[in-house]
Amino acid sequence: MARIIVVGGGAGGLAVAARLGAKRHEVSVLERNDYFGGKLRVHEGDGYRFDAGPTLFTLPAVYRDLFLKTGKPLEDEVGLSELEPGFWHRFADGSGLQLPGGSAGRTASAITEQLGQEQGDQWRALMRRAGEIWKLARPEVIVKPVESRRQLWRMARNGKAVRTVAPWRSLASMSRAHFKDPRLRKLLQRYATYSGSDPRNSPGALITIPYVEQTFGLWHIDGGLGELRDALVSRCERVGVELRPSTEVVGIRHDEQGVTGVKLADGRIEPADIVVANVDALDLYGQLLPDSSFRAGPRSYSGFALMLGIKGGCPDLQRHNVLYSQDYRQEFVSLAAGRPIADPTIYLHRVTDPGAAPAGHEAVFLLVNAPRHGQGRDAWDWSTGVDEYAALVLARLAERGIELRDRISYQHIQTPLDLASVSAADGAIYGQAFKGAASIAKRPKNVSPVPGLFLVGGSTHPGGGLPMVGISAEIVAEMIGRADGRKPSESPSCSVKS
Ligand SMILES: Cc1cc2nc3c(=O)[nH]c(=O)nc-3n(C[C@H](O)[C@H](O)[C@H](O)COP(=O)(O)OP(=O)(O)OC[C@H]3O[C@@H](n4cnc5c(N)ncnc54)[C@H](O)[C@@H]3O)c2cc1C
Repeated sequence: MARIIVVGGGAGGLAVAARLGAKRHEVSVLERNDYFGGKLRVHEGDGYRFDAGPTLFTLPAVYRDLFLKTGKPLEDEVGLSELEPGFWHRFADGSGLQLPGGSAGRTASAITEQLGQEQGDQWRALMRRAGEIWKLARPEVIVKPVESRRQLWRMARNGKAVRTVAPWRSLASMSRAHFKDPRLRKLLQRYATYSGSDPRNSPGALITIPYVEQTFGLWHIDGGLGELRDALVSRCERVGVELRPSTEVVGIRHDEQGVTGVKLADGRIEPADIVVANVDALDLYGQLLPDSSFRAGPRSYSGFALMLGIKGGCPDLQRHNVLYSQDYRQEFVSLAAGRPIADPTIYLHRVTDPGAAPAGHEAVFLLVNAPRHGQGRDAWDWSTGVDEYAALVLARLAERGIELRDRISYQHIQTPLDLASVSAADGAIYGQAFKGAASIAKRPKNVSPVPGLFLVGGSTHPGGGLPMVGISAEIVAEMIGRADGRKPSESPSCSVKS
């Protein structure tokens, strides 16, 4: 049995702690906030309840595996249902595209019906290609710790595979190669923002994100994603994990042999055989382990969110809606220059779960991409101008036909600066952004240079978002192995099959 400290109780920290507790290690999660979940959190006010972070659940196999291996199935803990319909995409020219939940065939048919035969066929071709990339990338890169760039190139070991993956193509270029219709180009490019990246720099391989959504489904958790957070917390407790809120770690202690423990903000030292860091890799290597030779990559974007109570709600909209701007490219030009987007694409999520709003009202969550907080070239100082920017977002929404301003009964704003309490100080949601195909291999690794110190969570391999964060927990738990001394498997067998 090893004494393991997990620094940070976000989704990744809780997931790895539950897995390690079930492997009979002595595990403590030290979380600086007085609540667990990190970005996976709920905001409540004046009778309204919002998911303040994730609103969409995909690739449930990752969490099904976690819950099964640590006790009872996920479905015993949360109400899980397939989302139907899926997203309503509304474009600046007034046209729209209503997509079903997770089904590749029905998505292609919906595109054919609403945008035309050629567009439906092009979508089918893209998804065929995405499926081939997923089959190559999943076993070689996604569910394994990435050790070197060579591993990435092994994935594309023959000419056909190289042509399929097309590592020279960005997501933006992939969208142009596959679609003539600018609306489908925008729709595809939007997936770069699922990792806080620019579609012009993101690898074309990100076409696997819509493939995963359509193949493995879009899911809703009854009562919202906060229920998943609660289920993770109680699963940790059930396998004997010690959960310590309001406990900030300020340093990782180690000697020549490896990690020896952590230093707390109150000066106490907590000894440990193994430490798993769920904090952003930038904070780990910049503050908790400042003598390391880590070189930070480009930072991901953040998000600006408005949580609104709306009298009468928005019954004409779907649960998940995307309202595109006129000039999508310009949005990324603004973000790269560290400027809030003047005409942002707006994600609108209607929280329709019972009890999420007072009678006759609805909780509505708006989210736009935003530069991270700070002083750098691609950052913005979010300590001022917040109300003005919120007003701008609502005005843009009204220009797209959704006037909420005269019906707002509650408003809470969450800026990139607010996100600093659950991420690195700059509020970047996904840690490091993608920049080129090799950037997949350049993400901070799950194993640190200090023996016994591991990394889990959205700023590390394989990436951000709940599914990838859950996979990082699985990778790390497999590497650490069982308390009975059985060797960790060299190549973890992961929950996500092709
Ligand atoms: C607005 C928004 C919308 C999103 N939408 C989606 C979505 O729809 N679907 C999806 O799958 N994903 C979505 N995501 C991304 C997803 O929420 C994250 O990738 C995921 O929750 C990150 O989990 P993590 O394990 O990296 O931990 P984090 O949530 O980053 O948590 C890290 C934890 O470490 C703690 N910590 C930091 N430093 C210390 C320290 N020194 N000592 C002790 N504790 C410390 C923090 O307080 C925090 O609790 C969204 C995120 C945001 C913000």
